[in-house]
Amino acid sequence: MVMPSANDVLSLDADQLVHVLQGFGEPAFRARQLFEWLWRHDASSYQDVTVWSRPLRERMSQAWPIRRAVAVQTQVGVDGTTKLLLGLSDGQRVETVLLPHPYGYSVCVSSQVGCAMGCTFCASGLNGRIRQLSAGELLEQVRYAEMILKPSGQHVRRVDVMGIGEPLDNYANLLKFMRMAHHEAAFHLSYRHFTVSTSGLVPAITQLANEGLPVTLAVSLHAPNDEVRRRLMPVNQAYPLAKLIPACDDFARRTGRRVTFEYLLLKDVNDSQQLAHELAGLLAGRLCHVNLIPWNPVAEHDWTPSPMSTVRTFQRIVQDQGISCTIRKELGQEIDAACGQLRLREEESLSL
Ligand code: SAH
Ligand code: SF4
Repeated sequence: MVMPSANDVLSLDADQLVHVLQGFGEPAFRARQLFEWLWRHDASSYQDVTVWSRPLRERMSQAWPIRRAVAVQTQVGVDGTTKLLLGLSDGQRVETVLLPHPYGYSVCVSSQVGCAMGCTFCASGLNGRIRQLSAGELLEQVRYAEMILKPSGQHVRRVDVMGIGEPLDNYANLLKFMRMAHHEAAFHLSYRHFTVSTSGLVPAITQLANEGLPVTLAVSLHAPNDEVRRRLMPVNQAYPLAKLIPACDDFARRTGRRVTFEYLLLKDVNDSQQLAHELAGLLAGRLCHVNLIPWNPVAEHDWTPSPMSTVRTFQRIVQDQGISCTIRKELGQEIDAACGQLRLREEESLSL
C-alpha cells in the first residue's frame, strides 16, 4: 500500500508541532502560529507565514514541506451543492461534497482511496482499497469546503465521514483528524457535529465508544436480518447482527447519542413491507433514528432502485411503530452521482 510521505506537516497535531519547532530551538507559541496559518489562513508555503523570520521559513520548507491537495474538478449544483475532486500529493484522488441545509453547511468527506469492504451496491469499493487517507488529507477536505464558504462569511457546521472509504478501517487517522478539526486554532468544530458512518466494524465501534467523544455513529444496516444483509455486505460474515446491534446499543448507552441506521432501498431485495415490519421490530425500544436512502444506480452493479412510492410505504411502516424515520433528501442530484463514481469516471476518462 502506498503511504503519504513521512514528513507530512499537515498531519501533525498541535503538540507534535511544538515538538518539531522545539527541535529548531523555537518556543511553543510558534507551533500555535503555524497550526493557525495552516488551517485558518490557508498558507500554501512557508513564505506565507509572514510573522516568521526568513531563516525559520527556509528551514521548515526544507524539513517539512507543505503539500496541499489540489482541486482537480469542481461541480456546483443548482441547489448550492458543490462536489470537489481533490488530487493528493501522490496523484490519488478523492471526493468531497459540500451540502447546504437549513441549519448551515455540512461537508461529506472521504476517509480512504477506495474501500476494502466490497459492498455489492457501492461504487467506492469496485477497485478495492488503494490506501488510507492521512489526518492531513482528511483536514484538507474540510479546509477546501471552508475556502469555498469564506467569501460569504459562512463556515462548515457539520462533518459527515460518509464519502469514499470505511472510516473505521482507518481508525487512528480518523480520530486524529477529528481531534485536530475540533482544535480551536483549526476549525473549532464541536464533536457533536461529526457523524461517522460505518458498514459495521464491531471492534472499532466499541473502541470509538471508549474514546468518550460525543460524535454521532451512523451504521449502514440495509437489512433487518443476516440472510438479506449478507447478500449486500460481506462484512456481515464477520460481524452479523447479533454482534452489531449490541455494539450499537453500547455506543448509544455510553455516549448518550442516538445511533442512526442507514437503510438503502433496493427493489425486490430489501424493500418489502414484511422487511419494514421486521426492521421496526429489530429497532423497537432503541435510542435510534432510521435514514432511508434511495439507491443511486451504479452501472457495475445489477440492482434496481426502489420506486419512491415503495420508499414512502416503508417509511410509514417504520414510523407507525414509533421509530423516527426520514428519507435522505437527494441534494445536487444532477451532479451527485453515487459516492465514488466521480473518481471512477475521472479515472476511466484518464485511461481512454
Ligand atoms: N463506508 C461507510 C461510509 C461511506 S458509504 C459506510 O458504508 O457506511 C456512506 C453511505 O452511502 C452508506 O450508507 C452506503 O451504504 C451508502 N451508499 C453506498 N453506495 C451507494 C449508492 N450507490 N447509492 C446510495 N447510497 C450508497
Ligand atoms: Fe465501503 Fe461503505 Fe461502499 Fe461498503 S458502502 S464498499 S463500506 S464505502
